[in-house]
Amino acid sequence: MPPANPDSAALERLPSDIRVHVVGAGPVGLLLTELLQSLEGVSVNLYEKRREYTRTRMVTIAPYLVADSVESYGADAIDGDSVGAIFDPPELEQGIAFRQSMPSDLSAMLKSWALGFCPLNSIERSLSDLIDEREPNGVRRAGAVVTVEDAMAMLQPGDVLIDSTGSRSLLRDHLVPRSDAEAEDANTLKVRLEYVIVVTFLYGQRYDCNEYCKYAKNIENPHYKFIPMVHRTHYDGSVSHVTGVINISAQEYEAMPSRFDGEWLRSNFPEVAQSMDRFIAKIKEETHGEILGDLEIVRIPLDLYRARNATSRQFLAAGPSDHPFATSPVFLAGDSAIGSPYFQSISLGFECAMFLAGLIAQRDVPLRDLLDRYELYIYKQWLRVYMRSKMIKHNKDLFESVDDPLALLEKLHIY
Ligand SMILES: Cc1cc2nc3c(=O)[nH]c(=O)nc-3n(C[C@H](O)[C@H](O)[C@H](O)COP(=O)(O)OP(=O)(O)OC[C@H]3O[C@@H](n4cnc5c(N)ncnc54)[C@H](O)[C@@H]3O)c2cc1C
Repeated sequence: MPPANPDSAALERLPSDIRVHVVGAGPVGLLLTELLQSLEGVSVNLYEKRREYTRTRMVTIAPYLVADSVESYGADAIDGDSVGAIFDPPELEQGIAFRQSMPSDLSAMLKSWALGFCPLNSIERSLSDLIDEREPNGVRRAGAVVTVEDAMAMLQPGDVLIDSTGSRSLLRDHLVPRSDAEAEDANTLKVRLEYVIVVTFLYGQRYDCNEYCKYAKNIENPHYKFIPMVHRTHYDGSVSHVTGVINISAQEYEAMPSRFDGEWLRSNFPEVAQSMDRFIAKIKEETHGEILGDLEIVRIPLDLYRARNATSRQFLAAGPSDHPFATSPVFLAGDSAIGSPYFQSISLGFECAMFLAGLIAQRDVPLRDLLDRYELYIYKQWLRVYMRSKMIKHNKDLFESVDDPLALLEKLHIY
C-alpha cells in the first residue's frame, strides 16, 4: 500500500459544512437532492447524463411509502409480515416521523403518485422542478456522463459521494479495495430468477386481472403462459395499459433480439406467441375491445440483486490510504444498491433516500456508525425484498404447473 498523504487521516465525522455529489438524477437521485438541499450546511452537486426525461412507462408508488402510522406501513398482507419480523418498532416509528417532517409540497406529490399509475418522466420532471424552485437553492447541476475516474477526481476529503445511477451502478463494484475487486461483480450478489419476454400493449377498453383471470385465460396454454405482471394493468379513463410476461428458456433468450414486435414473435417462436394471442383473444371476447397500436416486446433476465457493501466502509476499515474513498464516504442509493423485478423499486429507492438524508443530517454521529447504520438498513430492506421476490417466484412456478398435479407436488415443500 502506498504511504498515506497528510489528507488521508481517517475521517472521524462529517464536517459541519459538506459538499454532497449525487451522481444520477433518476427518481432516487432527485428525491435525495431535494431532501438534502434544505439541510443546513449542505451543498449538492447533481450530475446527470440524460438531457431530457423521456421514460413514459406507467409506474406505481407503493402505499407504504406515504403511510402515516406504523399500522398503515405494514398494511400489505405479505410485505407487512416481513416488515414486522425484520424491523424493530422504534425503527418503523422513525421512518414515519421522517415522512411527517418532509416539506408539505413534496409530501403532497408523493401522496398523489401513490393513488394510481403515473408516467415515470412526470415523477422525474416534478421532482426536478421542485429542486429548481427551492430557495435558497444550494444545488449545482452538471449535464455529463460521470466515469469512475471522474467520480474519484471530484472528491475533496470530507465530501460525500452518492451513487444513484441505477441498476448498472457506476460504483457498486468499486466499493471494495483493489485486490478484492478483480472479478466482475466483485461487490454484487445476483440471483437469476428466470428469463422472460415482457409484452406491453394498449387496449381500448377497461381490463382488470386477478389470479382467477390469469388461470382461466391460460387454460389452453399448457407450456408457455402469458401472465399480466402484479398490478400491471391500468385504465386511465380511455385505454388500459397492460404489461405481461412469458417465461422462456435461456436458449430462447439467446436466440431473440433484445426488442421486437408481435409479428416477429409469431414468425420465430409461434408457440410462445400462441400463449399471448390466446390470452388476448379471451380479453377481447370478454370486454369487446381492440389492441391499439403494436405490441412492444423485450426479452430480459429477471435478476434479484444487492450490493454486498452499500457504502465504502471497507476502505475506512482498511485504514489510512491515498484512495479517495478512504476520506470521502460513498453510498449507493436506489437501484444501484438493491433491485428486484417483483418489488416496487422506486418506493424502495425513495425510502432509502429518506433514510440517507436523515443520516447525513446527523453531523455528530461518528462516520463509522453512520456507515454501519446505512449498511444495516439496506440489509434489512434486502431481506424484505428477497423474501417477497422468492415467494412470488415460487407461486409463479406453482401456477405454471397447476394443471399437472405430479409436477405441482414436486415443487411443494410442506412441513
Ligand atoms: C418496464 C418497467 C416497469 C417498472 N415499473 C415500476 C413500477 O410500477 N413501480 C416501481 O416502483 N418501479 C418500477 N420499475 C423500476 C423503476 O423504474 C426503477 O426502480 C427506478 O427507475 C430506479 O430509480 P433510480 O433513480 O434508482 O435509477 P434510474 O431510474 O435508473 O436512474 C439512474 C439515473 O442515473 C443516470 N446515470 C446513469 N449512469 C450515469 C453516469 N455515469 N453519469 C451520469 N448519470 C448517469 C441515468 O441517466 C438515470 O437518469 C419498472 C421498471 C421497468 C423496466
